[in-house]
Amino acid sequence: MSFSHLGLSERVLAAVAATGYKAPTPIQEQAIPHVLARRDVLGIAQTGTGKTAAFVLPMLTMLEQGRARARMPRTLILEPTRELAAQVEESFAKYGANHKLTVALIIGGVSFGDQDIKLTRGVDVLIATPGRLLDHFERGRLLLTGVELLVIDEADRMLDMGFIPDIERICKLVPFTRQTLFFTATMPAEIRRITDQFLHNPVRCEVSRPATTVATTTQLLAKSGRDDFDKRDTLRRLIRSAEGLKNAIIFCNRKRDVATLYRSLLRHHFSVQALHGDMDQPARMAALEQFRKGEVTLLVASDVAARGLDIPDVSHIYNFDVPMHPDDYVHRIGRTGRAGRSGTAITIVAGTNDAKAVAAIESLIGQTIAWMNVPAAAGPAATTQHRNIAPHKAPRPNSHGRGDGRRQPHRPAASMARTETARKRGGHEPAAARTDEGDASHLPAFLLRPVPQKA
Ligand code: AMP
Repeated sequence: MSFSHLGLSERVLAAVAATGYKAPTPIQEQAIPHVLARRDVLGIAQTGTGKTAAFVLPMLTMLEQGRARARMPRTLILEPTRELAAQVEESFAKYGANHKLTVALIIGGVSFGDQDIKLTRGVDVLIATPGRLLDHFERGRLLLTGVELLVIDEADRMLDMGFIPDIERICKLVPFTRQTLFFTATMPAEIRRITDQFLHNPVRCEVSRPATTVATTTQLLAKSGRDDFDKRDTLRRLIRSAEGLKNAIIFCNRKRDVATLYRSLLRHHFSVQALHGDMDQPARMAALEQFRKGEVTLLVASDVAARGLDIPDVSHIYNFDVPMHPDDYVHRIGRTGRAGRSGTAITIVAGTNDAKAVAAIESLIGQTIAWMNVPAAAGPAATTQHRNIAPHKAPRPNSHGRGDGRRQPHRPAASMARTETARKRGGHEPAAARTDEGDASHLPAFLLRPVPQKA
């Protein structure tokens, strides 16, 4: 099947040809004709399947007729995160190169003023995160009664992020007669309820996860001590000894752990950036861009921040925490081994709760994951490898997380205590580790004094 059989306009086909795509992906093949026929679509597909083009291409074709009116967007796309919204905007720029459509991005973290000016001029496509969209609506700056087509993307992620009440509200603000395209990777009960309520006789288009991911990714488990200090040590050893590490995403379950791990890796002179929900928008975009361009090697991220991001060609995934939901594991490792390339996904397992979570993952993916030997503490060889993945120039300090880019006090009391603990454990801390994070400044001085050790 070729793109020309889907009913897309000549202008859209020309833009698709310019991207070099040979054929539509299964979700595109299934969904595009129905979208063009003005049917509601329930697309069960995850990132990496080409689902963005599955709604952007027919939307461009349909928007060739008619024009936008002030404050009344013609189409509305809801995305759970700012990055995803920005990614969809990029898709409009790419596939809409032959169109003169007005596309506006309404996301948190940037000023209302510029967004307002765009809305006043009238937009063909409004791409928004739910909260900011409702803010504009409540200020009376936006009318949703002209929306002919509504796209709800990554709905299960919206659910995880607590956006479902906002989505329900928005669905009631747009005209009943609009067309709705709804995309989700999974169908939990709450999502089913929403689709039953807001989709009218939808066509269901379901595609499996990109099969390449699990098949081409080497999955391993690495045992670690339970506390975060041990886990960070294990992670450093894994990274330093990794074969063929080109770039890696390191996942944490909580955003505050993302910030902590990021600062720790930075102190250990790794080339690293972070991505989590508390960072401001420019910092998130800059971090992502640096990682995409290869200016930094490691990206520490939370599931929410990283979900749906299109970052091709990641060689390694590290699960610093075993994901709480087995589905998240599949999403995480889906960032490597793309397009038939090989990838490695290593999960750090610390304690029985982690082991239970791994068992749930194994039952979901239908295979057992092998244990690997965690390399011994960093010796000279590991240090050399470490240097290989360090940046040519240190990453610029950015504005996310507390203390990023700030000078650390030289050898604080806390780190001395930590180094001492490590020594007592028989562990070896590389020089850089002596400034590891943690706050032991409340410790009495005598606890920080070196303890003489027997040979
Ligand atoms: P998505 O699932 O929308 O995030 O898309 C994943 C990636 O697939 C993006 O980098 C797209 O540029 C790419 N893509 C989308 N459609 C096609 C296609 N028909 N052929 C090849 N690549 C595609």
